[in-house]
Amino acid sequence: MKLIKQLNIILLPLWCILLISLVNVNASALSSCLASIKGQTVYPNNKTFPSLIIDENIYVNYTPSVLVYAVNNQDVQTSVNCAVKLKMGISARSGGHSYEKYDLGGRNNVMVVDLTNINDIIIDSKSQTAKIGAGNRLGVIYNKLSQAGFLIPAGTCPSVGIGGHALGGGYGFTGRKYGFASDNIISMEMVDANGKLLKIDNATNSDLFFALRGAGGGSYGIVTSFVFHIHPTPPQVTSMKFQFNPNQVQQLFKAYNDVGPSLDNNIVLSISLSKGGLSIDGLYLGPSANAKNAMKQFLSEAPKPTSSKFIPQSFFDSVKTFAYVPPNEVANPKHNPYFFKAKSFLVNKGLTSQAINTMIDFLNNVSCDTYALFDLFGGTANINDVTSSLIHRDVLYGIQLLGQDWNSKTQGDKCIKQLNDFGKEFQSKFTSYFSYQNYIDRDLDDWQTRYYGQNFKRLIEIKAKYDPNNLFNFPQSIPVKTF
Ligand SMILES: Cc1cc2nc3c(=O)[nH]c(=O)nc-3n(C[C@H](O)[C@H](O)[C@H](O)COP(=O)(O)OP(=O)(O)OC[C@H]3O[C@@H](n4cnc5c(N)ncnc54)[C@H](O)[C@@H]3O)c2cc1C
Repeated sequence: MKLIKQLNIILLPLWCILLISLVNVNASALSSCLASIKGQTVYPNNKTFPSLIIDENIYVNYTPSVLVYAVNNQDVQTSVNCAVKLKMGISARSGGHSYEKYDLGGRNNVMVVDLTNINDIIIDSKSQTAKIGAGNRLGVIYNKLSQAGFLIPAGTCPSVGIGGHALGGGYGFTGRKYGFASDNIISMEMVDANGKLLKIDNATNSDLFFALRGAGGGSYGIVTSFVFHIHPTPPQVTSMKFQFNPNQVQQLFKAYNDVGPSLDNNIVLSISLSKGGLSIDGLYLGPSANAKNAMKQFLSEAPKPTSSKFIPQSFFDSVKTFAYVPPNEVANPKHNPYFFKAKSFLVNKGLTSQAINTMIDFLNNVSCDTYALFDLFGGTANINDVTSSLIHRDVLYGIQLLGQDWNSKTQGDKCIKQLNDFGKEFQSKFTSYFSYQNYIDRDLDDWQTRYYGQNFKRLIEIKAKYDPNNLFNFPQSIPVKTF
C-alpha cells in the first residue's frame, strides 16, 4: 500500500504532463479542424472568453471548449462536421436566454455555435413574409419590421434570441391575435447531424417541420434561418397599465377567469402578483377608444383600479413600454445577467380562490424576491395545429413563478428549493399537468410529458431519424429512444 502511494506521488507529475498534452492535442486538433471557419473562434485561453460565456441567467455556469461565431451556413456545417469528427458535444446559441443555460450544452467542454452574426432580416412586404437569421434578438426584429410596417408575434424581452424562442413556442402581447411565434414559421434552414443543410417546410422534411415548431430548441440540429409570416402593424396600438389593491385579488381573478376567455383577440393581458403588489399590463392592437370599449366588461367585473392608464402609441413604442430596459436599448439589446429560477404552470379553467390564497401565502413567505405572472392565452394561440408539436392550446393563462436576485449561494439554494417544492405541490393540486418548455426547468419531473404530452413519442421517432447518434443533446433534449 505504502509502495503504491509512493509510486503515485512519483507518477503524479507525469500524469499531469500527459493530461495537459492530451488537452493540447485536442485543442490543436480542434483549431485545425475549425481553421476554415470565416467567423471568429474564441478559445478558453482568450482573455475575452469569460465575458462571452455570461448569458442572461447566471445561477448556473458551464465552460465550453470553443465559441464559434458562425457567419454563414457553411461555418455551421464545418462546426458540425468537426464536432462529429472529434467526438465532441455541440450546441447552438442564439440569444443565450435559456433558463438553464442549455445553449452552452448543459455541461462543460462543448463546442458552442453562436449565431449572433447570422442576422439578416429580409422583408418581403408583398408576400408579408420575412427571412430572419436565427441569431437576431427580438428587439432588433421588432425595430426592423416596424419600420416596414410589420410585426411578428413574440415575447416582450428585447434581448431574447429568435432562435431558441421560436423553436419552443414564443408567446407575447400579440399572441391572442396571431398565435405563438412558432405558429408563424413558414420554413426554416437547418444544419443536421451530418452537416447537411436541410430546407424544412410543410412539404419538405415535414416531420422536422412538426418537431422544430415546439420542440426544436437544441434537439435536432442548428436552425440558421426562418421565414416568418409577418403581420401589418396597426397605425396605433394602446398599451394598458392598471394597479389594484392587493386585498381585492380574488375579485380580480374572478373577472380574469370569467371574462378573460371572451376578451377581444386584439387584447393580451398579464396579471403580476407579488408580496404587496397586484397589477395588470396589457396591449390592445388598435386605438384607445376601441381599447376602452373592449375592456369595458372586464373592468366592470374587476375591482376598481387604484390607477389606470390607456397609452396610445406606435407598435414599436409599446414594445419599449413593456421591455423593462431603457428605451434606447430595445433596438440594440444586450444581456442583463441576473440570478433567477422559474416554474411554469398552465391553467385551463381558472384558478380557484384556494389556489390563489396558496400562491399569495407562498409569495409572502418565500426567502427571495419572487413574483408570479399570469399571461392570458387564448384566441389564435389556442387553435390546435397538427403540423406543430406545440401542445399548449386549451389554455386560459400561463403562469410563470420567478424567484430572483439572491445575494448568496446559500440564499439561492434555499430559494430554489422553496420554488421547486411549492411548484410540485401547486401543480399537482391546482393547475393542468403541463408546463411551457420555453421556461425550461431542470428540476421538473416528467418534463417529457409536461412539455410535449402525447407528441413526445413522435418527437423521439423524428429524433432517431435525423440524429440517431444523439449529437445534439443536453439534459432535457429529445432522446433517440424511450428510457
Ligand atoms: C428575460 C427573459 C424574458 C423572456 N420572455 C419571454 C416571453 O415573453 N415569452 C416567451 O415565450 N418566452 C420568453 N422567455 C423565454 C425564452 O423564449 C426562452 O428562454 C428561449 O429559449 C430563449 O431563446 P434564446 O435564443 O435567447 O436562447 P438560447 O439560450 O440561445 O437557446 C435556448 C435553447 O434553444 C437552443 N437553440 C438556440 N438557438 C437555436 C438554433 N438556432 N437552432 C437550434 N437550437 C437552438 C439552445 O441550444 C438552447 O437549448 C424569456 C426569457 C428570458 C430570460
